[in-house]
Amino acid sequence: MIVILKHTVPGDGPEMEQLRAVAARYPDLELSLHTVPGALQTLSEVYVFGPTRQVPTAVFEDLPFVQKAFRVSSKYRIIGRHEGQAPTVGFEYRGLTFSQDNFHLFAGLCAVDNREHVEMTMAALQRAGLKTTRMGAYKPRTSPYDFQGLEAACLPYVFELAGKYGIEVIAMEVTHESHLEQIAAALDRAGDPTGVMVQIGTRNTQNFELLKQVGRQTRFPVLFKRGMGITLEESLNACEYVASNGNHRIVFCLRGMKTNLGDPHRNFVDFAHVPVVKRQTRLPVCVDPSHSVGKKVRAVDGLLDIQHALAQGVVAGANMALVDIHPRPGQALCDGPQALLLEELPGLLADLEICREAYRQRVASARHHRLAEAA
Ligand code: PEP
Ligand code: MN
Repeated sequence: MIVILKHTVPGDGPEMEQLRAVAARYPDLELSLHTVPGALQTLSEVYVFGPTRQVPTAVFEDLPFVQKAFRVSSKYRIIGRHEGQAPTVGFEYRGLTFSQDNFHLFAGLCAVDNREHVEMTMAALQRAGLKTTRMGAYKPRTSPYDFQGLEAACLPYVFELAGKYGIEVIAMEVTHESHLEQIAAALDRAGDPTGVMVQIGTRNTQNFELLKQVGRQTRFPVLFKRGMGITLEESLNACEYVASNGNHRIVFCLRGMKTNLGDPHRNFVDFAHVPVVKRQTRLPVCVDPSHSVGKKVRAVDGLLDIQHALAQGVVAGANMALVDIHPRPGQALCDGPQALLLEELPGLLADLEICREAYRQRVASARHHRLAEAA
């Protein structure tokens, strides 16, 4: 059950006490407060977990500060979009807003290989006006003989350079709960010059124990990648593990599906699911054209296949994109063949702006025509 409050309440205020007193009349109910930042006002939603079947919604609705209470039968209780809730929610992190209404490009290294490449990449991002990047330190590789990432050893200079070049958020995959502590400790030691959005990679989409750990911490928001060989429903259920353990600051990322039907691309692009995830959840949706396409090949029109895939996601309303770039792709220790050059960043941004504008115009046009039809 979800109880929507009329105004923002603190977790330790009298309203929560009153809600807890009502819940205590029934066995085994648990309450969890969720604040929803909005453009005009912040709303509070209280999730009531446990055997709510025998609890009438009226017991909550009778409280003067409650706007509405309703049952949620859907399997995505927290990440799901339910009737009666605020239509959009987002979250703030390091001064940036992540929501279904805006867009951020996270261009960067698939894997950190050395300080010089990190510095060249971050300097290029700053020149391009970007404050967000991707930098892999812990790499889950198909073969144990492949480069596994520099792990905690690279974190001090990655965070120091992020501070130097004004990078506010780094998407960084974690493959074990200990990585969360390593990242937190390195950030603390560096004086918190930047932020990290912890990434759950496609190989860990259903690593439920890791998902619980990532969900139990709330310092870092989560970039949750769709599983490469499972249904969208299974991936969203897995994503709910993060949310149901307490962390609601999640971005859901589409990254293509593993099937030879996508050949010659590495994965079959699934960006037609951008509007599906936006409809079924209130999460911002990311696309990763680099890991979907997996190679830097150029179409006959001169654009890269990666750009074409990215465009599909963005004109469909994606809110974030991961794009691999590298100053010297030939020297990259992971995924060099799909990395764009730093010099290609301005062109990529120009292309992205066209796609974002096309999306805005498509939405405006759809609204306009619906109005015209009604008139
Ligand atoms: C990555 O983004 O570096 C990565 C490994 O992606 P995925 O988990 O989608 O394969
Ligand atoms: Mn990669």
